[in-house]
Amino acid sequence: MTRWLLLSAALATACQSPTEDASVAPAAVTEAPEDAGPTDVEPEGLGRIHVGGAVIRVEYDGNEPPLPAEVMDAWVRRSARMVADYLGEFPVPSLEVTLVGRGWGGVGFGTHQDGRWITIYCGRHTTERGLENDWVMVHEMLHAAFPDLERRHRWMQEGLSTYLEPVVRARASNTTDEEVWRRWTRSMHHGRPADGDEGLDITHTWGRTYWGGALFWLMADVELRTQTNNRRSLRHVIQGLLREGGNGRVTWSTRRVIEVGDAATGTTVLRDLYARMAEAPGDVDLDQLYTELGVQRSDGQIFFDDQAPLAHVRRAITRE
Ligand SMILES: [Zn+2]
Repeated sequence: MTRWLLLSAALATACQSPTEDASVAPAAVTEAPEDAGPTDVEPEGLGRIHVGGAVIRVEYDGNEPPLPAEVMDAWVRRSARMVADYLGEFPVPSLEVTLVGRGWGGVGFGTHQDGRWITIYCGRHTTERGLENDWVMVHEMLHAAFPDLERRHRWMQEGLSTYLEPVVRARASNTTDEEVWRRWTRSMHHGRPADGDEGLDITHTWGRTYWGGALFWLMADVELRTQTNNRRSLRHVIQGLLREGGNGRVTWSTRRVIEVGDAATGTTVLRDLYARMAEAPGDVDLDQLYTELGVQRSDGQIFFDDQAPLAHVRRAITRE
């Protein structure tokens, strides 16, 4: 791990999207109403989806939905299935997904609240194909698989959804390994500390929040897999948190996340990384990391080197 971390040594904030040019998502603020409950099991039907032990309700707001409700339901179900397949179950017992018809584009930004509600904006030009390739729903659902933290640690929540969304989709064959690494080699560098940046707990720019957080979780996944020869990974961390009730419905301290997460893997990977990247501006030599993992980028194309020392780790990230 140390070989990728070089120490170097600021302040700001954001709530947006890991896509560089995406619109700004407003921070949702709503009082939590009475427990929506794991349901007195409503039967499945249009707008009521059962996946991975959860009941998900689909509601509509704004303009007429851009596609038939069956198609919108299939999108929600497919996304939930991918998340549940990764985690072993859906992270919360119930969820309400509100699809807001607004604007002319496709799937827009989304928000998540409290492991209970997701809102996603869908423009009139949302297509079935756009829904098939969508990442926003998976990103928002993954927020339900991690506890809420104090605002200064939001990089940890956004970073987790940013990192895991393509992983979850690749494992479900909803995207390719090449596409996952194409995105990461294009954007992960935004997470590195700029001149004057401090640790992730202190410098809250867009890049550090989304991609700095994603880089933290990538490093955690790689280090866990390297240390344990792929027997432990980030998935075990998140499953460990969920076993202790650490889903999107509760607020935890980062200390608890780290203790429970490390206990789940029998390592100190999270503690060590947190000290280097959150409390200090630990940088990562991404070129060296990609070389060791066997990832080469040329003219926007990705090539894999299976002879690289950590090729087995890279392959396992989107498989095991
Ligand atoms: Zn997010």
